[in-house]
Amino acid sequence: MKVVVTGGAGFIGSNLCARLLDEGHNVLCVDNLLTGSEQNISPLRGHPQFTFLHHDVTQPFSFEADAIFHMASPASPVGYMEHPIETILVNSQGTYQMLEQARKQKAMFLFSSTSEAYGDPLVHPQREDYWGNVNPIGPRACYDESKRLGETLTMEFCRQYGINARIVRIFNTYGPNSQTDDGRMIPNFITQALQNEPLTVYGDGNKTRSICYVNDLVEGLMLAIFQPHTAGEVFNLGNTEERTVLEFAHMIIRLCNSSSSIIFEPSRIDDPERRRPDISKVQKVLGWQLKINMEEGLRQTIEWFRSHSNRLSDVSEPVRTSN
Ligand code: UDP
Repeated sequence: MKVVVTGGAGFIGSNLCARLLDEGHNVLCVDNLLTGSEQNISPLRGHPQFTFLHHDVTQPFSFEADAIFHMASPASPVGYMEHPIETILVNSQGTYQMLEQARKQKAMFLFSSTSEAYGDPLVHPQREDYWGNVNPIGPRACYDESKRLGETLTMEFCRQYGINARIVRIFNTYGPNSQTDDGRMIPNFITQALQNEPLTVYGDGNKTRSICYVNDLVEGLMLAIFQPHTAGEVFNLGNTEERTVLEFAHMIIRLCNSSSSIIFEPSRIDDPERRRPDISKVQKVLGWQLKINMEEGLRQTIEWFRSHSNRLSDVSEPVRTSN
């Protein structure tokens, strides 16, 4: 198949491109490299079925596709707070452009949404039918609300034009090709632990997250688009093992054999207290199963960080969310 991946040079996008090539597809990776990285796709560049287009998907361009994965968007709190307008535009105008293409070309379409669509959730764990608790004017709104608008656009294209589209809400994900300087918990903690620098915990460390290894996530994306009878559906994709931020910090110090300490810094504004997906729908409808346990996934990720130490940022100035 001819498959387009917007945001294909990003963390999840580049892992998805690699998997699509393994499955024999022709892949057009489109990315403006705002938060994506050419290093992520350099191993794919020589592949005869891989093409890279440096382009901003909010602007029209022509291509042929049987399937479109619309993954383009800054996705870490630091990334979208640094680029709020670009984030709003790629998830609204960019989604509209891609949906129009899917309509004209009768292509399958997947919109990558986010657990942030649930905001700071009042319902726990989060099921797909929960409408969320989002601050529409806070510092995270550029991401949360534009992803919600992208979801609305996707559902309207399904209703109005009957296109073959689905929405996937991606929960915290980690693994190789993470952006080492995007300020997220796992990249920050591993970077700090490998350099025996203090791990920076925001708040008291009692907020929770559940983290999914990127290969499992990519498997879920493939099932969500290629499995029949998934049009018009919304799926959570994520791990269900919930841990506190402090537990992640201790686990990473241990797995890195690090002598790092932990320091506490002020909480971030609108930082969700608890997050864990209910994945019963994807398990039932897609038969999706998590294959990599957390320690194993973290070990592989730490190995990747060690072997890509040239990408490590200088943690004497850890990357922080400004608030
Ligand atoms: N976090 C932290 N220290 C860091 C980076 C993140 O304590 O160096 C916390 C952050 O405040 C949040 C959790 O870890 O409670 C996950 O943050 P991340 O940026 O990975 O993504 P989020 O889930 O907030 O989108």
